[in-house]
Amino acid sequence: MDFRDHIRVISDFPKEGISYKDITTLMKNGEVYHAAINALVEKIKLWQPDVIVGPEARGFLFGAPVAYAFGIGFVPVRKPGKLPAQTIGETYALEYGFDTLEVHADAIKPGQRVVVVDDLLATGGTMLATANLLKKIGADVVGLGFLIELTFLNGREKLEDYPVFSLAEY
Ligand code: 5GP
Repeated sequence: MDFRDHIRVISDFPKEGISYKDITTLMKNGEVYHAAINALVEKIKLWQPDVIVGPEARGFLFGAPVAYAFGIGFVPVRKPGKLPAQTIGETYALEYGFDTLEVHADAIKPGQRVVVVDDLLATGGTMLATANLLKKIGADVVGLGFLIELTFLNGREKLEDYPVFSLAEY
């Protein structure tokens, strides 16, 4: 299945010049959403994860069903101030300014094999910050999986320390 047939592309959203990849059209089609999760599971099982991590918010939509399929845990990485217990943070640069991501300090046991799942790889900033954050709490980040990759932004270069795959390229 070519998942691109089910991803709606919106010009000039959220800003002029951006060609936004809308995953809601893929997700509302049960057959296609199911196939996308199964395709992620097929690739990720080779990495034998103990835990799946997903960054807020669209990482939850793909990461959690993958964890459920394996019968393993899911750990959310969130924007600051959302997680209730003790957290560890990682701040990273955006085009204009900075952003921070947080995870519960006790979310992952040292040495656990972790795969991070997100909907889309653009510059790689979000995923690199997530991987750095997970390393801080002792996780063994064994791979990174995406539904969509914008190859012209070369996000993979930033993620060269990790195995990476995506299911649909633009
Ligand atoms: P990066 O940090 O790689 O530059 O951007 C990736 C993050 O931004 C992902 O978490 C993703 O959810 C979000 N993102 C950026 N552009 C798009 C887009 O066109 N469509 C969707 N669905 N998410 C996007």
